[in-house]
Amino acid sequence: MMHVLAVTNQKGGVGKTTTVVNVAASLAALGRRALLVDLDPQGNATTGSGIDKASLQHSVYHLLLEQTDFKGARVRSEAGGYDVLPANRELAGAEVELVDAPSREYRLKNALTQAADEYDVVLIDCPPALNLLTINGLAAAWRVLIPMQCEYYALEGLSDLVQTIRRVRGHLNTGLEIEGLLRTMLDPRNALAQQVSAQLERHFGGKVYQTAIPRNVRLAEAPSHGQPALKYDPVSKGAQAYLQLTREMLERFENGHASH
Ligand code: ATP
Ligand code: MG
Repeated sequence: MMHVLAVTNQKGGVGKTTTVVNVAASLAALGRRALLVDLDPQGNATTGSGIDKASLQHSVYHLLLEQTDFKGARVRSEAGGYDVLPANRELAGAEVELVDAPSREYRLKNALTQAADEYDVVLIDCPPALNLLTINGLAAAWRVLIPMQCEYYALEGLSDLVQTIRRVRGHLNTGLEIEGLLRTMLDPRNALAQQVSAQLERHFGGKVYQTAIPRNVRLAEAPSHGQPALKYDPVSKGAQAYLQLTREMLERFENGHASH
């Protein structure tokens, strides 16, 4: 089974891209076949994977507009050991160009059927908005991974996202569920972060990953070198936290399947 995860939160700067890049690299290190889909016109996941977004011949934009096929858009992240459907600023036009297009919400889902079972895990990096690109991510996904910072308004923002997921489940993707909530940039000495963390566990119970990602400067530095942290500084706390998260994620997949 190909596990397709949409990594999403409409709030900006919560660690979506950092999560997608570093989980993809950790999957590769653990011998899994990973595909990263960059659905953000900022193209940060593309750059952070060591791919020059300015010189792309084809990107996820052309794939969504059916101007190329899956293989035509796919590139390899040598630094990360995984494949990428890359993005750049061109992707911002897709929203407008798809507005009257047939099955515009299912363009990514349809494209991924061409990947058949080539991957164990597909990670979709969504932009910080509940727009058509994010809807394409949610419609294509098996489940949703939500990175969040444990700060005062975090839970409020989450309720909008939970509503959106419900709507998508009602219309576009009946099986869609939250796979997990990930606490990012955590400072364990921060009392507010601890309170929010406890609240999260009350609301979402076992959906909250036990592994939290600490604030770690190596995670912020690695993208400017075009590398996941696991390549840039493998023993750093950030790289190791993402490796641990990935192990927890894989364990959940296996247990989830056993109970079905
Ligand atoms: P956007 O909504 O703009 O797409 P995002 O949710 O993808 O943002 P990131 O780009 O992953 O968030 O992270 C925002 C910033 O915080 C980046 O500069 C990133 O390098 C930094 N960052 C992310 N996680 C950590 C961490 N655990 N420790 C330190 N810095 C981090
Ligand atoms: Mg991002």
